[in-house]
Amino acid sequence: MNIALIAHDKKKELIVQFCMAYCGILSKHNLCATGTTGKLISEQTGLPVDRFLSGEQGGDQQIGARVAYNEIDMVIFLRDPLSDSQKEPDVNSLVRLCDIHNIPIATNIATAEMLILGLDHGYLSWRDIANPKPPRRKQGY
Ligand code: PGA
Repeated sequence: MNIALIAHDKKKELIVQFCMAYCGILSKHNLCATGTTGKLISEQTGLPVDRFLSGEQGGDQQIGARVAYNEIDMVIFLRDPLSDSQKEPDVNSLVRLCDIHNIPIATNIATAEMLILGLDHGYLSWRDIANPKPPRRKQGY
């Protein structure tokens, strides 16, 4: 499965801890992330992560475009609900695209854990049937 990871600044430590905790599950899948989030995850966990632009340069939209093309199977977007409202449009846009394409999206750590455990139990296998993919790519996106 293709999993997209994004975290606002105040949630970056949390997403790294999440990736460490679920490294065993995540290592079986293709990971992509916005620039800084991806850099931190790959540096601190060793997991391979395809990195897009940073969020402020359009990385969220790059992930949104892949959601629109049905190339992403799950999004974990740890948003900071207390941050300034400038980032809200990016969150809303991605949530909307996920809703259009029935892509599971977690915006907090509790839901993220449910999704990743559900993924490991095979609850998302229908995506492979509905949307078969070529074998895992080694590098690049
Ligand atoms: P970043 O982007 O991973 O490049 O910080 C995330 C965001 O703020 O949307």
